[in-house]
Amino acid sequence: PDRDFRSGLTEAVKVALLKDAAFFDYLRKSASKLRRRVANVSKEAIARSCQLHLEHITAGGDPFEALEARPLDFGHWSAHRMEPMTNYALRHGEAVGIGVALDTLYSARKFGFPTPLAHAVCQTLADLGTPLWCDELDTPDEVLRGLEEFRQHLGGRLTVTMLKNPGEAINVHEIDLPVMKSCIDELREIAEQQPV
Ligand SMILES: [Zn+2]
Repeated sequence: PDRDFRSGLTEAVKVALLKDAAFFDYLRKSASKLRRRVANVSKEAIARSCQLHLEHITAGGDPFEALEARPLDFGHWSAHRMEPMTNYALRHGEAVGIGVALDTLYSARKFGFPTPLAHAVCQTLADLGTPLWCDELDTPDEVLRGLEEFRQHLGGRLTVTMLKNPGEAINVHEIDLPVMKSCIDELREIAEQQPV
């Protein structure tokens, strides 16, 4: 289904932001074609996404995720929380898209990720046809509980991957909750500007 096809592409956006700025550029420029499932563009995007995930798992030196950092989980602390909050009405990929948008806005506030590019990330996700918002974000404290759940899932101290630039990830060990809440408000405004 189109909905699942588009949902999967949010993981491509995620891995591009983590590892390959040129690939993010490609996704950004190709988003409307990807949304329409244009075959050659889709094939390229899916292949590159798989390749980057695979390279991380096989060549990243941590195939069983024993280290505390889980870069492939970028955007996932909130996604894993929003999925059950919506009774899984939200697809995993849709939740990841929202989570990636949120953590990219946070990265812009805290770690110097270029703000225009953070907005381009949101726009790319919107152009792909995946949501930037779910109403569960109206209770931000409930969503922020996802940080503690994520820490427990990691089994040690909290380690969350954020971005300095496209293709340049960093790990942080605490989240500034008031800033994260204000990023939720910012995301609401960006989502409201999108045509229905
Ligand atoms: Zn995922």
